[in-house]
Amino acid sequence: MGKKLDTVNSINNLTDPLLKRTFEASRSPLIVTDNLRLDNPIIYSNQAFLDLCGYDLDEVIGRNCRFLQGDDSDEEAVATLREAVEQGTDARVTLKNYRKDGVPFWNDLIMSPIKDDAGKVTHFVGMQLDITDRMEAQQALVAKTEQLEQSNHELEQFTYATSHDLQEPLRMINSYLQLIRKRYGEEFDEDGNTFLDFASEGADRMQALINDLLTLSRLSDDSRRYKKIAMREVVDRSLNNLKLLVEETGTTLTIGRLPTMCVDPVQITQLFQNLINNAIKYRRAGVKPVVDISARKDGGSYIFTVKDNGIGIEPKHFDRVFTIFQRLHTRSEYPGTGIGLTICAKIIKRHNGSIWVESEPGKGSSFMFSMPVERG
Ligand code: ADP
Repeated sequence: MGKKLDTVNSINNLTDPLLKRTFEASRSPLIVTDNLRLDNPIIYSNQAFLDLCGYDLDEVIGRNCRFLQGDDSDEEAVATLREAVEQGTDARVTLKNYRKDGVPFWNDLIMSPIKDDAGKVTHFVGMQLDITDRMEAQQALVAKTEQLEQSNHELEQFTYATSHDLQEPLRMINSYLQLIRKRYGEEFDEDGNTFLDFASEGADRMQALINDLLTLSRLSDDSRRYKKIAMREVVDRSLNNLKLLVEETGTTLTIGRLPTMCVDPVQITQLFQNLINNAIKYRRAGVKPVVDISARKDGGSYIFTVKDNGIGIEPKHFDRVFTIFQRLHTRSEYPGTGIGLTICAKIIKRHNGSIWVESEPGKGSSFMFSMPVERG
């Protein structure tokens, strides 16, 4: 190949030996095109470029580098390149090119103008980089993400449909249980009434599960519901729903200064409600609950904290509590469905933030979540 290159180089006065060797030694595929000739033909190519596209030197020289493209080129990239050549400016584009054997490769091409002393663009130098592996990985990732989104969507619909459909038979069980109690309750002995209580309890638990599953599957992302709102108002709304629990348990609440943010108010009310409810529910025996709600700015996000003085959580369970149906206690110790924190995590994900917990067993927990100051 050395001989062929010599011929080409001498045609184009590329006689500086160091420059020539530098081009040839470069592992980066390089070409030089002649801007003064019609259609900007390639007048120089190093070996790395020939290795990249699989052509011989004489098959490359004299051709416009578009000969590497197929019918499926990204039109925008081609237009960018054309414009840069017309205007004598730099361009960087990613092109799908084809090797001589027909195998496609992704080419990251940087074209830069070469000017003469008068500032006229006489040539372009094109540096290529084979980014096929990266592009294939990226495309596989996009395809996988689409697949996941699709199956996630289907799963949400499935959860919604099943929980919705379960309500009807449950209603029937409940009304017949009530009827049995009303009509035959007095005829039952103690055991009979206890069994009836168990059946009612089971039905109530199922109702709670269905309600939570419905809430979870209904958490759609609808930007029309987002609005600018004082977070204090959101917290107050959630406390309004927890009024009875707060009073009954003698909970002390402290609320710091909270920002105004653009959020889905219904979802964030639900989030605070779940966190405050847990903060009170998981209290220590004989210790009145103290719940502190605060926010601070951290870079481009606000971090909210719901801190309690309850039973706390062991560090090994910090992640587990956000997983659906994962509970650290039996129902007889603390009632619940194990869905509340999953709902919180989903709401926060919808708001482009994250949620986590810090805690010391026996002292209390701090549930924290972040949300970007500006909704992206
Ligand atoms: P649920 O309260 O219905 O069980 P959650 O998803 O809200 O479901 O919580 C999951 C588990 O995390 C709870 O069962 C409990 O063990 C633990 N947990 C949640 N909040 C607290 C808290 N503030 N203090 C201690 N443990 C908590």
